[in-house]
Parts: sequence; structure tokens; C-alpha cells
Amino acid sequence: MYVTIHSVIGAGIGKFIPNPFIAFTIAVLLHFLCDAIPHGDSKNGLADNEKKKHMMIAFTIDSLAWIAVIGIIFLFAPMTHPISMASGALGGLFPDLLRVPYLLFQWKFFKKYCVFHDAIHRVVRYNIPMLAGIVEQSIVLAIFFAIIFT
Ligand SMILES: [Zn+2]
Repeated sequence: MYVTIHSVIGAGIGKFIPNPFIAFTIAVLLHFLCDAIPHGDSKNGLADNEKKKHMMIAFTIDSLAWIAVIGIIFLFAPMTHPISMASGALGGLFPDLLRVPYLLFQWKFFKKYCVFHDAIHRVVRYNIPMLAGIVEQSIVLAIFFAIIFT
């Protein structure tokens, strides 16, 4: 699932939880739960270099979307618990952030974590097409946007 969606879910959770540590923890747990739900980002059938290319394109778009979406939320949304919302947004992206040291620098310390994180994506052995995944994630984004802005 895209980091932007994980972060918006975390911010939405933080809206209702005054304690930023609890908001962070719940956002981390929800990240893994959402990753377990098929969301169309399995690149089975693609060659390794194609997978890498897709990953880089998705990462670039996701990062720009994250900046825009989180910016909109923190500039315009009603802030009930701003620290918790920020903490939840951070908790939502934290499990993917922990993958970066291994993915970019092959730091072995993070390899087992990456194996664990990737295994969660295969808990439900059912893939959906990428387009269906984008629709699914857009619906989740819209729901959490509605929650955050009301
Ligand atoms: Zn993840």
C-alpha cells in the first residue's frame, strides 16, 4: 500500500487519540494490517529490473503525493489533536521507512525486518490487479480524508 495512504490513516487515527504514543503504535499496527489486505502492488511476473523501475516510479509519485496530501491536511484540516495526528501520520509510514536502510544500502541488520514486512503482503494469498488496487486505495484515502476534515 502507498505510504501516502498509510500516513493518512495514521493521521485519521490520531484525530481521535489524544496520546501521541498510542496513536503512533496503532498506526504502525494498522500499517501491517493494511499491507496484509491485497492492494494491487504485487509485481509478480515482472523481471527484476522492471520491478525496480516500477518501484522507483511508484516511490517518486508516492513521495510527491505524500507531501501534497499531508500538507493539505496539516494546513487546512481541523486539528483536534495535532501532535497525535502528526505522530499517527509518522507511525503510518514508519514500517516502510524501516525498509529503506536495507533497500538502499543493504544494511544486513534490517534484512530480517524486510523479510517479515514483505511476508505480511503474502498473508492473504490473493492478488488484485494494479488498477483495482489504485481504486481500493483511493476509496480508503477518500474515507480517511472525510474523517479528518469533518
Ligand atoms: Zn508496508
